Amino acid sequence: MALGYEDTPLLPGGKWTVHDVRRPQPPVVDPGTPFSQDAPGKPPSDAIVLFDGKSLDGWKNKDGAAAQWKVENGYMEVVPKTGDIWTKQAYGDMQLHLEFREPEIKGEGQGRGNSGVFLMGCYEIQVLDCYQNQTYPDGTTGGIYGQYPPQVNACRAPGAWQTYDIAWVAPRFDGSRLISPAYVTVILNGVILHYHKALQGPTQHKRLAGYAPHANTGPLRLQDHGDLVRFRNIWVRPIDFYENLA
Ligand code: MG
Repeated sequence: MALGYEDTPLLPGGKWTVHDVRRPQPPVVDPGTPFSQDAPGKPPSDAIVLFDGKSLDGWKNKDGAAAQWKVENGYMEVVPKTGDIWTKQAYGDMQLHLEFREPEIKGEGQGRGNSGVFLMGCYEIQVLDCYQNQTYPDGTTGGIYGQYPPQVNACRAPGAWQTYDIAWVAPRFDGSRLISPAYVTVILNGVILHYHKALQGPTQHKRLAGYAPHANTGPLRLQDHGDLVRFRNIWVRPIDFYENLA
C-alpha cells in the first residue's frame, strides 16, 4: 500500500505536496510514563535528563563550584543560603518538565515555599506555595514573575508533588536589535496557565523588564529563596520551534 501521494498540490512554502510521501517521517519517541504522587514519571526517550533523583552532577552554583543542595530519596531539596543552582549545559528553545513539592506551611505571601524556575538563567516562572495563600498576582505560582499572573491558581496543597510542563521559545536578536521576544507556555498540574505569552524581558523585582541582547542559549536555574522546596524528574527536550514552523 502506498504511504502517500505524489500528484497532489504543493503546500505553502513550496517544498512538499499535500500528503507528500517523500516528506521525512517524524522520529519515533517512547513517551515514557506519566507522573504520579508515588513516583516521578519516566522521561521520553529523547529527553535530556537534568536531574535523575540521584546526583547534582549536572549542576553548579554561582561560582561554578558544585551545587550544595541536598539529594535524597529521589529528590533534591534547597539548602538555604547555599544559593541558586544552574545547569552546566545551556539550552534555548525547549520543552521542560519538572516536579516540585512545597514544604509544610511556614510564612505567608512570598515567604511561603518560594523558589523559582529561571529559563535561560534569567526568566523566572515563579515557584511558590499559593495553596490558600495570596500574594501579588504576578508573583503567584506559575506567574511570569513581575509581568503576568497565571490565568488560574492550580496549586496543590503543600506536601503534594506538582508538575510544570513548559514550552519555551528563546528571544531572537539581530545584533543589538530584538527580532522576536521570548514566548512561554506554562502548564501546572495539567492546567494551562499561559499560552505562548510574550515576555517583556528578563525578570526584575520592583522594576520594569526590558531586553538586552544575550546568547541564544542559557542554563536552567533553580532559586534558593530560603525555603525547603524539593524538585525531582527534571528533563528537557531541546526544540527549535521556529524550525518546526517551516
Ligand atoms: Mg521565586
